Amino acid sequence: MNHRKSQLPGKVYLVGAGPGAPNLITLRGKHLLERAEVVVYDYLANPKLLRHVPETAQLVYAGKKGGGLHAFTQAQINTLLIDFARQGKRVVRLKGGDPFIFGRGAEEIEELVAAGIDFEVVPGVTSATAAATYAGIPITHREYTASVAFITGHEAPGKKESNIAWDKLATGAGTIVVYMGIKNLPIITRKLIDNGRSPDTPVAVVRWASTPEQHSVEGTLATITEVVNQAGITPPALIIVGDVVRLRSTIDWFEKRPLFGRHMVVTRTREQASELVALLEENGADCLEYPTLHMEPARDYTLLDDALTRITEYDWLLFTSINAITWFFDHLWKKDMDVRSLGGPKIAVVGRATAKKLRNYGLKADLIPEKFTGEGLAAALIATGMEGKKVLLPRAEKAREILPEMLAEAGAEVRVAPVYRNVPPQGRKDELRQRLEEQSIDLVTFTSSSTVDNFLTMVDADSEEELHRLMDPVKIAVIGPITAETVARHGLKVDIQPQEYTIADMVNAIVTYYRKDGD
Ligand code: SAH
Repeated sequence: MNHRKSQLPGKVYLVGAGPGAPNLITLRGKHLLERAEVVVYDYLANPKLLRHVPETAQLVYAGKKGGGLHAFTQAQINTLLIDFARQGKRVVRLKGGDPFIFGRGAEEIEELVAAGIDFEVVPGVTSATAAATYAGIPITHREYTASVAFITGHEAPGKKESNIAWDKLATGAGTIVVYMGIKNLPIITRKLIDNGRSPDTPVAVVRWASTPEQHSVEGTLATITEVVNQAGITPPALIIVGDVVRLRSTIDWFEKRPLFGRHMVVTRTREQASELVALLEENGADCLEYPTLHMEPARDYTLLDDALTRITEYDWLLFTSINAITWFFDHLWKKDMDVRSLGGPKIAVVGRATAKKLRNYGLKADLIPEKFTGEGLAAALIATGMEGKKVLLPRAEKAREILPEMLAEAGAEVRVAPVYRNVPPQGRKDELRQRLEEQSIDLVTFTSSSTVDNFLTMVDADSEEELHRLMDPVKIAVIGPITAETVARHGLKVDIQPQEYTIADMVNAIVTYYRKDGD
């Protein structure tokens, strides 16, 4: 018998990343990214899409900004894809827009075919339709045009024999969309006019379509070159020529959203963040998501282990967070114990969510305070009489001291036992600092005191002076009064605070603020 492991053949998936907005990729494309072993991606493919890729996957940036400094040549990319596939890898080749529209996708596939490598092509939303749509221009409309042409504007300017039949195109196609045409814009407009298209034909130019950086301008064949120069528009941008551009004044929606072009920080905490990001983005904001503290085991479990061996002596076991419950039971099981060992003490929790979490472990909370705070829990416990009571409080290494202090004051003997610790993320600290330095953040949102602490840990200012220098240009929005207090405690000023303490109300307050004020 042959025990040699047969190697599965590799496969290359040529996937259209869509025009820029990371949510404009197809479901098939996302599915393939989630299963990729290697991703080779371009400069036009939004790096935010790499979020879908497994951590273990190898990422290769193939560059390509007009063939700039760090770019691979097309031949190198082809070789790379073939090599990875021969190693048996599932390779996603991620390309901006649609891979078969001015994307040289076909050339890559031809090489794969020649090398006998299996492949699949996944179309993408091409930037022409996206740019038009996101600039409020329908590329066809019954009353304006019945045809549309996609052309490349990248042909060498001096080239005698053009592949584009300008004489037929100029008046033959209702709408003309030009890819890669910014550099040659004066030549392109000239060719169209010389071949019979009216100089008054409306033209729009859209840069970085569908992203928070989108910038669109409008003119006519006669004026657009000047307009583009004035606005300082550089590639990547598309040129849309035709009467449909007139509809923009009615349909334009994307750049008109109230938070468009605003860069807002969201410090992630559990489920909240996705709702917050969704609502902000819907209003046009660019969300910079920074990860919350992550949790690691406590450094020392001696205090907990000791308490567990004498758990029956305790009167109360307290849980003030869901995380404390998770880590406590994790540790219990590691010690080969289970809930039956907890027979002695009564159990108190801080609120409804912790009570519910406890129920998952088959345990019922004996006490839930009316007010779901540390103080509320302390008050409720003290009302039952704490004199001489033994209390075990498993929790984070660092946490607010108010609960143990109040209980101790009421005569209890409190053992605080660390079961986990919060570790601030280091990775994106430099990026955050840089953005603050260059003042490219408009607003920071805080949905809890820990998001404030977490964010400021990441900012890591050396002095109060530095903190103010970095943070004073940034607006601060908070969800409610406790978070506001925490911000104030750090010496910073709250600009936006909703009446009701919900994410939706906070976003409404932010929208109202920018509608009114706008700076
Ligand atoms: N395959 C891509 C096109 C690649 S050619 C697609 O289907 O969209 C590169 C050109 O596409 C750029 O020079 C620019 O003209 C256009 N382009 C790509 N993404 C763009 C974007 N987000 N906004 C405006 N133009 C874009």
